[in-house]
Amino acid sequence: MMSFIVCDAIMPWLIIQFNAYPAESYLNTQTHLFLASALLCQPATVGVASQLSGKRLIPANKMVNIAILMGAIAPDVSLFIMFGQAKIRGIADEVIWKDLYYSNFWQEAGAITNSIPMYLGFAIIGRLLGGRLSTNQLPYSDPLVTGYSLFGKLMLYFSIAALLHCITDLPLHFDDGHAHFWPFSDWIFQSPVSYWDSNHYALYWQPIEMMIGLVCIVLLLRRFTSVWLRVAVVLGFLSYGALAVFWSISIS
Ligand SMILES: [Zn+2]
Repeated sequence: MMSFIVCDAIMPWLIIQFNAYPAESYLNTQTHLFLASALLCQPATVGVASQLSGKRLIPANKMVNIAILMGAIAPDVSLFIMFGQAKIRGIADEVIWKDLYYSNFWQEAGAITNSIPMYLGFAIIGRLLGGRLSTNQLPYSDPLVTGYSLFGKLMLYFSIAALLHCITDLPLHFDDGHAHFWPFSDWIFQSPVSYWDSNHYALYWQPIEMMIGLVCIVLLLRRFTSVWLRVAVVLGFLSYGALAVFWSISIS
């Protein structure tokens, strides 16, 4: 465990030393995943859901954790679809990020998946359905109530993770942000800092982002004991290096 931490701590330094970080690097979706899981995910306990029907069901906490992870990536889904379909059509990366990204269609799609009012609406619906922000899975006695309130809880956690993504994206986009308040307004905050563009302090921001990722990882490794999950978390952290190399090859 200690060696993991030491390895991860020197990685940002190594990457900067060997200049593996491209001047431009994109799409650090994994930071959103780390942040949301460190703040919201809890290890699964035997949930009430599995006691209700007598059948073996997924513990409620596990479902909540999945909802959190889905919420953390939801705002970037439009990007993944844009990138995936463009790659299949053989469009060059350069064109994808410099033209396609700014096209009306994909800006509109991005505005929808990054809409703060939409996720706020989802959170309110989740709360109205009986969803609560609590790791305590009791008391759910009535199967009907359980169904609604569990769904509400999943919706609530999904929305909070997505809102966290939107809010943390807000101060880190210079000229490539998305409309934050679709469908009510197309205002986009233009931050002086960009998470990827070296003309806008990205080289200062990126080590900070990796450190945030590292802190989240330490928290997650301490909280979760499952071996496969720990492996996934560490691989997730190594992805910073892999992504940096990927971008430096694909955009150069
Ligand atoms: Zn994003």
